[in-house]
Amino acid sequence: MKRERLDKVLANMGFGTRKEVKALVKQKQVVVDGVVATDPGMHVIPEEQEITVDGEPINFKRWLYIMLNKPPGVVSATEDNLHETVVDLLPYEWAIKVFPVGRLDIDTEGLLLLTNDGQLSHNLLSPKKKVDKEYFARIKGRVTERHVEEFACGVELEDFTTLPAKLEILSSGEISEIRVTIMEGKFHQVKRMFAAFDLEVIYLQRIRIGPIHLDGSLNPGEYRELTEEEMEFLQ
Ligand code: URA
Repeated sequence: MKRERLDKVLANMGFGTRKEVKALVKQKQVVVDGVVATDPGMHVIPEEQEITVDGEPINFKRWLYIMLNKPPGVVSATEDNLHETVVDLLPYEWAIKVFPVGRLDIDTEGLLLLTNDGQLSHNLLSPKKKVDKEYFARIKGRVTERHVEEFACGVELEDFTTLPAKLEILSSGEISEIRVTIMEGKFHQVKRMFAAFDLEVIYLQRIRIGPIHLDGSLNPGEYRELTEEEMEFLQ
């Protein structure tokens, strides 16, 4: 959890401009953990401390469920020494609260969910729940019906054999276009499944996680909160 200035926290929560919330503090209307705040610049951890304004406790715990169309070149993490991260693409108030649900490779694009709801994240990621993930991919090489059958039986990789996967061929040639649905989410899984047949994934985009489809109106790097309908699908 991140420490933030009290006046900034209150301004972000809609209690007015920084100047207005400073005035609230001066008027002794803001209490932090039972002690009247005197310094608007004091540092607080909103999720951990009890803050009241005019006697009313503030509820900082707001569940956030965000869909991001991940662009290539950013990492699916909250911090990274080298690269921009997916949370860097979000507004500050969200960025400090959420984490990505699972990972996409740095060069993979498409649907990434971000949330502060650990239970939902667990439900989507747990291998036991077998939530399917669908990808669109361009493959260097000819993808054939043989691959469709092999995928349907599960593909043997070095460390495990995948669950049956659904492979659909959209076009087959020197460069093939396919859709593939897998039920796990192991490291580089789609790339490794094709590599097992000497085929190279040259473009990978996630288009669906369980009932949630990538919103086609989001350009790479754009995001939005999940709709109520999408939230219901996830229940
Ligand atoms: N499979 C991969 O190989 N990479 C991803 O980013 C996701 C699935």
